[in-house]
Amino acid sequence: MRAALLSEGQFRIAELPEPTPKDDQVVLQVDACGICGTDHSLWQTPGLAPDTILGHEFAGRVIQTGRSVREWEEGDAAAVLPIPYCGRCELCNDNRPNLCRSGLLAMVGCGATPGALAERVSVPAAQLRRIPGNLDPARFALVEPLAVAQAAVELGRITAGTRVGILGLGPLGLFAGLIAKECGALVFGLDHRADRVRTAHSLGLGAFIADGVADERLHDLTLGGPEVVIEASGKEDAIDRAGSITRIGGRVVMVASYHAHSQIQPGHWVDRGISLLPSIAYAPQQFDEAMAMVSSQAIDVSRLVSSVHSLDEINEVFASFRVQTDQIKLLISPSS
Ligand SMILES: [Zn+2]
Ligand SMILES: [Zn+2]
Repeated sequence: MRAALLSEGQFRIAELPEPTPKDDQVVLQVDACGICGTDHSLWQTPGLAPDTILGHEFAGRVIQTGRSVREWEEGDAAAVLPIPYCGRCELCNDNRPNLCRSGLLAMVGCGATPGALAERVSVPAAQLRRIPGNLDPARFALVEPLAVAQAAVELGRITAGTRVGILGLGPLGLFAGLIAKECGALVFGLDHRADRVRTAHSLGLGAFIADGVADERLHDLTLGGPEVVIEASGKEDAIDRAGSITRIGGRVVMVASYHAHSQIQPGHWVDRGISLLPSIAYAPQQFDEAMAMVSSQAIDVSRLVSSVHSLDEINEVFASFRVQTDQIKLLISPSS
């Protein structure tokens, strides 16, 4: 099979032996695999093992099953929950599996086990989720990032009527905005880039440029500030900004990747009773909720796919990732 092998920041396409499933595994023919900021960070991580196969947002069809797998057969379409939660640690037992260390470390396609930037991939059958009916498996590559956004929306306790501000209109900010809107929340997104604001408008979200009057405008539109701000920009100054635009007693959910130090004025947060809630990954139920959103088309994911690329274009796709900011989701179709 063909696969994209990553070594020292460069991909090369190679022919590898076909994966063989262990007893509890299935081999999936990959229909589509999404690329996200995590992949982009791993691409630039020094010391990643040579010939790593990335790809943790994917779906496809079963082509082979291990000896003890009964519930799947050839041709079944499935999305893959890439985190193998251990189910035994204190965090799993405390209903916070999204923090399970061994689960996150062993995530499919993040270095520990081969991912889906390959024609085929072997994964434990327990991590498969069935795609109903004749729906196109490719669109289910978006379930994983939608699950990340769903977890952030749930952590913020966003429901009908909640006033929500979103900082940063990259894929996660947009997905969280769409899910919040689907819950009946009043949503406004802010971004410094006009192309991203336009993208948000095209998806039916309220959004405007994060200029000098944006915070005041958000304050007025939400009659005193949003109860919940989802910080999806990852910018150093965004955390304190999120705290200051949130309504008294409200919540800030952090769902971006953060690589730099950030200063905040703790007194403002304490005085105004603002909670800061870090959102990382998702629980299995949240992945299943995202599956249901895609299956029912409550979220129309076809509008979220900006482009589909072949495996051969992988170096160009990663090089353009941070440049083409109007792109929502990029998919790789490894078998095309
Ligand atoms: Zn991802
Ligand atoms: Zn665990």
